[in-house]
Amino acid sequence: MLVRRVVRVWFVMGVNGSRSIHFRRKLRWLISEEKPSLQSEKFQITPENARWSPACGVRNFDVQNEQKARAIIHLDMDCFYAAIEVRDRPSLRGKPVGVGGARERRGVLTTCNYEARKFGVRSAMPTFMALQRCPNLIVLPTRFDVYRREAAIIRGILYQFTSIIEPLSLDEAYLDVTSHPSAPAALAEEIRTAIFRTTKLTSSAGIGPNKLIAKIASEINKPNGQFEVKPEQVADFMKNLPVRKIWGIGEKSERKLEELGVKTCGELQRFSRPELVNVFGKFGLELYELCRGIDDRPVEPDRPRKSLSTEETFAVDLATLEQCEEKLEELFQDVMADLAQKESTREITKIFVKLKFNDFTRTTAERAGLAPTLEGFRSLLEEAFGRTGKPVRLIGVGVRFAEPMPESAQLDLL
Ligand SMILES: [Mg+2]
Repeated sequence: MLVRRVVRVWFVMGVNGSRSIHFRRKLRWLISEEKPSLQSEKFQITPENARWSPACGVRNFDVQNEQKARAIIHLDMDCFYAAIEVRDRPSLRGKPVGVGGARERRGVLTTCNYEARKFGVRSAMPTFMALQRCPNLIVLPTRFDVYRREAAIIRGILYQFTSIIEPLSLDEAYLDVTSHPSAPAALAEEIRTAIFRTTKLTSSAGIGPNKLIAKIASEINKPNGQFEVKPEQVADFMKNLPVRKIWGIGEKSERKLEELGVKTCGELQRFSRPELVNVFGKFGLELYELCRGIDDRPVEPDRPRKSLSTEETFAVDLATLEQCEEKLEELFQDVMADLAQKESTREITKIFVKLKFNDFTRTTAERAGLAPTLEGFRSLLEEAFGRTGKPVRLIGVGVRFAEPMPESAQLDLL
């Protein structure tokens, strides 16, 4: 009798995927009523039943202890480009500074310092709008060569602490420091101090058991600060966290959730997997875990690529070199931004310009030892265009990288 009743309850739980406390209470009641000794057996946490842990909980810590919790640091330089500009021009200290395209050229700010942010200036804001909000804003052109050089220095410092580094952009990276002997928060402090000592630039860090938590935590004491969420603090940390902080939740999803009365991750945890799939499709499955602070994504070190390029096919063929040059400039800006974002520290060996003509033939002009400057690309464009003189339907610009050093050679250098 008891067995049948218990089986039925487990069956209901299994079908609707609910971790509802109601079912567990009912089960506990059934067991305690008829055979008290079963209770402790049933509710012992094992890896098999850990996924039935309370709705507001994170996957059970008892289980986590079996394999050591990971220690991930998300390191983020503070307004990196602007900070470098201010460091290199001490007269700018204390003034609002932005880096990006000029207003006259319909430019956009790449980043700005905290003095500018006080006026409501933000990165990715059109420069004219930034200047409306902060008329004294000093807008400087980007110097990607300098930023790349700084990023390489910083990357070198990070490698002294771990080789498991996943760069997110020029100024941001995840570090897996699980196997480092120091406590992760002390280690983050040490890393940030080392970076400051060498570059005179400040950074912020988030420390947590996974990438999701580390990334959210790095914003909390920014700038020049850090915040740690220990594995046992994850449940509390997530409870009041706005859903917007989860990666993948943009404005649209946030609105959708607000309609459902959900603002925090704690509130989101009340939904079952199928319910979240109903609202968000496949992402709902991920969301179910993310809102509980569960994120198993590994820190993935650089996957070396051989080249990076961008190209555009035009609606109307370009007949003259001048028309091509105009487009080249836009593509050049794109590829440089992409380069800074994705491959900030790789050594560039060649740059190239690819043209496809209106008869679908193509040609590529490339040269070794040429710096990735607009002038360099322009001379390659001229060379490629001069080969046929046919109308151009596509322009591609890109760079090729030096072969990455094998890991063993890198270790020898340390
Ligand atoms: Mg940053």
